[in-house]
Amino acid sequence: MKIITVKCLIDNYSYIIFNEKTSIAIAIDPSEADPIITEIEKKNLKLKYILNTHHHFDHVGGNSKLKGKYNCKVAGFGKDKHRIPEIDINLKDGQKWKNELFECEILYVPGHTSGHISIYIKELNALFTGDTLFSLGCGRIFEGTYDQMFSSLDKLKKFPKNTKIYCGHEYTKKNSDFCLHIDPQNPNLINKINDINLNIKNNKPTIPSILKDELECNIFLRTDNLEIQKQLGINSGDPIKTFAKLRDLKDNF
Ligand code: ZN
Ligand code: FE
Repeated sequence: MKIITVKCLIDNYSYIIFNEKTSIAIAIDPSEADPIITEIEKKNLKLKYILNTHHHFDHVGGNSKLKGKYNCKVAGFGKDKHRIPEIDINLKDGQKWKNELFECEILYVPGHTSGHISIYIKELNALFTGDTLFSLGCGRIFEGTYDQMFSSLDKLKKFPKNTKIYCGHEYTKKNSDFCLHIDPQNPNLINKINDINLNIKNNKPTIPSILKDELECNIFLRTDNLEIQKQLGINSGDPIKTFAKLRDLKDNF
């Protein structure tokens, strides 16, 4: 199996996973149809499924056109079925969904939206986080609470450290500025930023990231760090309060 990263819209990433022998393919979060169609035609793939992390237009924008063209099935969170265009397969939290390509685990991670899911594919060592976890950042809280987003990120932290993180946007550089602003002495972060700058210079995506790097560098996953709490004036030692403060600061950064 292979994963293709497809740039869409301004800074979105969609992904195509395919089997080289059978040519069967699945698209994750097709923001728009045309860049996906280009890849499908180029490699002569058979698009069988679309898998959506959440209902925002920049993640489902290609659903209708792709389904019309390839007659593929759309899978998404069942409780959000009224907002996911063309949905056929209603997924549940904790479900192991098996298709012709792989088995994956569905993780309900509310906060950015009330019906957001992330997808873990063990066989690929890959976690598709949508707009919940970004490299060096996390999604804005549009429909949920700080507590929900905090718990959702906590859920994603528990996968093996070498898990590859495939997220929905190329926000890494902007996110790194904020992490550095809060956590300027972090040597892991400084190393990571060097790698990011190199990728950007070579016109390459900064995605996938590795969970280990995120745990060491992503400020939103480091809210239990006493130094960071102190710097933000949180004396209670409460990681959720720290998270809320960081999220507010980032919204206005
Ligand atoms: Zn979104
Ligand atoms: Fe998005």
